[in-house]
Amino acid sequence: MKQDRKYCCYCGAGIARSEIEGKERDCCTGCAAVFYENPLPVVSCIVVNEDRSVLLIRRKKEPYSGMWCLPIGFAESGEDMRDAALRELEEEAGVKGSIVRLIDVDTVDNYFYGPLAIVTYEVRVTGGLLAPGDDADDAGYFPIMECPPLAWSSNEKALRIYHDMYRDTWAMVDSFRHLFPEMEMAGEIAQGGITQGELLSNVLIQIIDKDREEILNRWMEDVHALLPHLAPHGEELMALNSSILETVQACLRGDADTCDFRDYARTGRLLKEAGVALPDLLTIAALSRKTIWTHVVRRRLLKSPLEIYTALELNNRIIFLYDKINYYLTMRWVS
Ligand SMILES: [Zn+2]
Repeated sequence: MKQDRKYCCYCGAGIARSEIEGKERDCCTGCAAVFYENPLPVVSCIVVNEDRSVLLIRRKKEPYSGMWCLPIGFAESGEDMRDAALRELEEEAGVKGSIVRLIDVDTVDNYFYGPLAIVTYEVRVTGGLLAPGDDADDAGYFPIMECPPLAWSSNEKALRIYHDMYRDTWAMVDSFRHLFPEMEMAGEIAQGGITQGELLSNVLIQIIDKDREEILNRWMEDVHALLPHLAPHGEELMALNSSILETVQACLRGDADTCDFRDYARTGRLLKEAGVALPDLLTIAALSRKTIWTHVVRRRLLKSPLEIYTALELNNRIIFLYDKINYYLTMRWVS
């Protein structure tokens, strides 16, 4: 606990308050030394799990004994602030981590410690086991918006900043999961992340190239399961879906103009003559689209809001492409 200064540490004379540089400060009555009050450096960690719950510990000691807070403690001299934050996290919650980013710096005048500068980092868990440390009697995860009152106002402020920062990304992820429940999302969507390296569309082209056989076989299984009476036409249908895959790749490469869609009109005509019904033909094309998309999204982990957006855009392009293929496949059906 912060205590009042009584004697000068240089000459042993008494201390008195007097106004120096526009502020009341401790001054030595003997040697006139001025004792400036500098805030103590405090570090704190925001650790959020995949359920968007935040790690809190319950304090065993004063101040705020019995209250919950983020893992928090003093940085020591010579210690990097980030190392101090990770050390406190491990000491208080048993969890090892790595720094993701700085979330907030706050200055407060605490009744117990005096002036503090509280630096809060977002931290990703890398190991350890969650268990309360010496200064805590409990540790656990709480939904960010349903936390108990926190011991430090700076913790509440930093959590609000963190929540505001991720709110849009989380909304985007939720909306995407709703649209594509089969889509694999990275456990942690990097805020403002930028896809490094290749464009997502190039990655999709490569996936279709590499997994061509698998995509075709899965599609064939779907067709057999849903339309078993088409089994005699297996070979022609496989050839059709094979050329659809090539058209999709050309479209993703940006050269759909080189595709001759009139081939689809001829194929449609031949399938009609072979006795394939129109609703079946449309179902075959719909299954083709579904198989490509589900395969591609299973193979590709989306890691940033930009990737999520790009995946949506690609899906839209693929939908338009299939609309066009359907148009040609069916155009000679009635003529
Ligand atoms: Zn003195």
